[in-house]
Amino acid sequence: MNGTAVNKKDVLIVLMGPPGAGKGSQARMLSEAYDIPQLATGDMLREECQKQTEIGITVSETIKQGQLVADEIVIDLISVRLDQSQNGAILDGFPRTVEQAEALKNMLSAKDRAITAVISLHVSDDVVIERNSGRRTCMTCSKSYHMKFCPPQKADICDDDHGELIQREDDIESKIRQRLDVYVNSTKAVMEHYHNEGLAWDVTGDQDILEVNRDIRNIIGSILNPTN
Ligand SMILES: [Zn+2]
Repeated sequence: MNGTAVNKKDVLIVLMGPPGAGKGSQARMLSEAYDIPQLATGDMLREECQKQTEIGITVSETIKQGQLVADEIVIDLISVRLDQSQNGAILDGFPRTVEQAEALKNMLSAKDRAITAVISLHVSDDVVIERNSGRRTCMTCSKSYHMKFCPPQKADICDDDHGELIQREDDIESKIRQRLDVYVNSTKAVMEHYHNEGLAWDVTGDQDILEVNRDIRNIIGSILNPTN
């Protein structure tokens, strides 16, 4: 801590985790528990594009040219939303690099605010693969099933319309492993950075979502009320 007292009413959580770690469910639950918005930067950018705002038009052009959206644009978007939410927010999808983390920190300290905790959800590869590779989708109605957690009555046939159930290309084990590798490689540096700053907290996502949520809230609680 660089001498800044923790503002107990400002809960700023950065949520990190690979695809399939259950980040979406946790973000929703934390958003309700602390009554703070979830700022998913991917969704925010899509929204700007759809609304054709000045930022949205710039972003569309950038993407069309196959380039990455400038960090400043994302920072500006987050900054505006944070000004509307003085009691905190959950950041999802940002930062992804050390440069972005530094830019975020500078933006926050100019507002006399700071990140409360960076929560990193860890899920073993096997669990992610089990969750994703068991998924089957009906070719007729797109209803989804899971061979273990939500199986159809008859193997490979949709309960509703007898359509054929298929495994999407994305849900094949090798593709899932590829996505996990990409995630780990692209976030390694920023996670190290937050560990060095003393802000990173590891949570095991291999348990029930309620247990994961309890662990995260215990961490936030211990930071907000260190004497308890
Ligand atoms: Zn169907």
